[in-house]
Amino acid sequence: MNVTNQRPRIAVGRLYHESNRLNPLPATADQFEIQRGEAVFQCAGSTLGGIIRYLRETDVEILPLISVSAPPSGLVDHAFYEAILRELTDRIAASRPDAIILDLHGAAASTQIADLEGDLLAKLRQHVGPSVPIGIGLDLHAHLTDAMLENTQICIACKENPHSDVVECGMRAAELTLQVLRGDLRPVVVRARVPMILPGAGETASGPLGEIHDKARAFAAGATDIVDISIYNVFRYADDYNIGQVVTVMTDGTVSRASEVAKDLAWAFWDNRERFIDDLFEIPAAFEIVRSQPANRPYVMADMGDRILAGAPGDSTVLLAEVLDSFPELRGALTVTDPASVKHAEDAGLGATVTLDVGGQISPGLSSRRITGRVVHLSEGEYTLAGPFHGGEASSLGSAAVVLVEERVFVLLTTKPAFSHDPAVFTSQGIDLKSLDFVVVKSGYHFTMNFKGIATPLLVSTPGVGYYRKGIFRYDKSRFWPEHDIDLKDIEIKSFGGRSVSA
Ligand SMILES: [Zn+2]
Repeated sequence: MNVTNQRPRIAVGRLYHESNRLNPLPATADQFEIQRGEAVFQCAGSTLGGIIRYLRETDVEILPLISVSAPPSGLVDHAFYEAILRELTDRIAASRPDAIILDLHGAAASTQIADLEGDLLAKLRQHVGPSVPIGIGLDLHAHLTDAMLENTQICIACKENPHSDVVECGMRAAELTLQVLRGDLRPVVVRARVPMILPGAGETASGPLGEIHDKARAFAAGATDIVDISIYNVFRYADDYNIGQVVTVMTDGTVSRASEVAKDLAWAFWDNRERFIDDLFEIPAAFEIVRSQPANRPYVMADMGDRILAGAPGDSTVLLAEVLDSFPELRGALTVTDPASVKHAEDAGLGATVTLDVGGQISPGLSSRRITGRVVHLSEGEYTLAGPFHGGEASSLGSAAVVLVEERVFVLLTTKPAFSHDPAVFTSQGIDLKSLDFVVVKSGYHFTMNFKGIATPLLVSTPGVGYYRKGIFRYDKSRFWPEHDIDLKDIEIKSFGGRSVSA
């Protein structure tokens, strides 16, 4: 450590993307929001926001690197990733920080590499050498790899789904990284992995996952030598040898009980595996609830199969077709990713009546839907997320058009997949949610935070690459329950760290 006589210089940045290999469209440069320099500080509702908030309360100099984020989608274009990596290492070379703290999702993959964050961290480590502490705050849906743990001193996840504690996660990652820098913490991480995914019930406030988190909190509360317990519910759309639920227990120095705690929590996943199922409504039943129970309107219907928040393209028209064909009295709004239809609507102009075959062009197995309606709104699609999840952040739909069909269904056509878990996607395009019976979002969990108090949630079983069902996706490498028959005899344990970071 070379910071005895001056304020520590801490570099901060973000690379936030969840990459779904089943989405055929790569995530290209134009889909990402990129901030550089001081603009990196405008992200209060994120893990990066928490990192910055903590550092601002301490006596350090903050060096903003770069913030790169996009809604979940297909694999990241590899050339774009390489350009970002180059910029990141150039900025680090120029600023020579004493420590680096990053907000990473942990389930990003490029068109060439499966573990993007692991690759990035290995290259940063190579670049700065062993003496510069690297801390990261991850999403709890990270696919945690050896490379991420081997190349960081601090690696923790947020604890809540929906992610209401990302700011706290960032603050904690910053606090622990500074402890490492000062030589006050010598982190050792024990990792346990169970070869299973959660087919459903991924919320942390209730159900089996809630019980596992309660147990983890009790372990941490009862042991001062446990610094952090993070629980990772692996992203279901990766195909890797090591896919599985992961528990990490971080201690200060080696603590023999850490393995026991990690194993105990890992077994809790396995023993409760049959309980991880979602309570979803079939499509007609969901609309029937909207129709017959007006007191709870508007409803916010989660299109589970086309969840952009799980990397699906957002181009499904399955719910659109149902409401147009079978529920003529209902008023609602939904998004459809369809750049060509946006262009047609723009060419026709505001107020024009258009007939378009919308959506169904990207998602395998889905089809388009013909609509006729009036173009009631056109825009460049720039807006600010209302939050709380990522609240205050700039986001973009690309060019966008709203077509009002039968004077009752607002079809919001977007060029890019929309963060539709946030009401601002609709309100920014002139759609008044209070006047509607339902809104369709392409999110399974986070919308319950951002629509809280505005609408009643309904999870709907729909087709698409955003929702796992046994046997419908191809896995060439991974072996996990429930996709495969697994005879689990023991839990795999591995230990990381324990070395001093002093040069
Ligand atoms: Zn997540």
